[in-house]
Amino acid sequence: MFLGPPGAGKGTQAERLKADLGLTHLSTGDLLRDEVKRGTPLGLEAKRAMDAGELVPDAVVVGMIRDRLVGDAAANYLLDGFPRTIGQAEALDAMLAEKRAPIEHVLLLSVPREELVRRLGGRWLCRNCGKSYHETFAPYGGEPCEATGGKCDLYQRDDDRSDAVANRLNVYEAQTAPLVDHYGGRGLLRRIDGERGQDEVYGQIASAIQGG
Ligand SMILES: [Zn+2]
Repeated sequence: MFLGPPGAGKGTQAERLKADLGLTHLSTGDLLRDEVKRGTPLGLEAKRAMDAGELVPDAVVVGMIRDRLVGDAAANYLLDGFPRTIGQAEALDAMLAEKRAPIEHVLLLSVPREELVRRLGGRWLCRNCGKSYHETFAPYGGEPCEATGGKCDLYQRDDDRSDAVANRLNVYEAQTAPLVDHYGGRGLLRRIDGERGQDEVYGQIASAIQGG
């Protein structure tokens, strides 16, 4: 399980870890965006909350995760963006007890708030190929779009705009930071310094998982 604020790099590290360990990646952000795209009732409810930088209600998120977790008993999962509240963590504890599946590792990616603001505020996505760019760290250089061959059509997700960024970080601190104690108390939590370069962060993660 990855814990950490928005912008800490959970998604990037999760992609790499998933490929190396053959894990099934459950990203609530991706699952929710998929519901929004398909315009389901759950998606509409989720969109309203995400646009305002609020957390999607626990019942919606837990239901969505339960569908996936219960569906495949054999898989090893990587949870990214879930749980986000104590309520979700308790629901997860109950689901896992039912499946007799333990949580093996909880990795907390720590990044200072000023750095998160810098990272989140500059993110742009291509409407066509989905590729992500950043004003400071990975600016778009005019290269051809992988989907259309023309220029990428860049936009900012509503929840990446600056007022929504501040709100997302406040919500994280109020609702998700308490999970550090929830898992820390069980001796499962490992802190990862998310301010380093991507390879170094991944090295810390790999050694935490190998018990190093
Ligand atoms: Zn593109």
